[in-house]
Amino acid sequence: MDVMRVSGIHMHYYAVCKRKMWLFDRGITMEHEHDRVLEGKVLHEYAYRHLEVKEILIDNAFKIDAIDGEHVREVKLSSKMTYADFLQMLFYLYQLDLRGLKKKGLISYTKERKTEEVILDEANKKRVKAAIADAIKVLDESSPPPVIKRTYCKRCAYYAFCHAGEVNGE
Ligand code: SF4
Repeated sequence: MDVMRVSGIHMHYYAVCKRKMWLFDRGITMEHEHDRVLEGKVLHEYAYRHLEVKEILIDNAFKIDAIDGEHVREVKLSSKMTYADFLQMLFYLYQLDLRGLKKKGLISYTKERKTEEVILDEANKKRVKAAIADAIKVLDESSPPPVIKRTYCKRCAYYAFCHAGEVNGE
């Protein structure tokens, strides 16, 4: 299994919507998504200003936000995507584990002012390995997974792209 085929963002999108992950992987991006990425960058700059180590590039392959002692840290605006955040963190912990670094994860939600700890135990390792394998299978498909209809779609950068008929009132 080529674990380098996917990134932390792929994992996050995988948990939210496999179609979103596929579109992102093919380089189909929307303006709105750029705004969100910028918003995240500003948040990260602010959140990690007291840490010496931030935005670490591991083996030129993937970036993690910050390492604070025994923890990898991620800061999110809100806890709307808890499972996706969890899976993304597991992905980073697993990647570090593959390189002999045993870390735990901390995800801080600024809006709710709470922090969740994530541990890469055997069950979570199995979970993230299965998710990576399935994500690779989806990415290897020549066409994207079908459109899903969820309340999240309206907040998704690909909304107009996926729901064009509805947007045009057809
Ligand atoms: S709009 Fe809905 S179906 Fe389309 S990529 Fe986003 S979440 Fe997936």
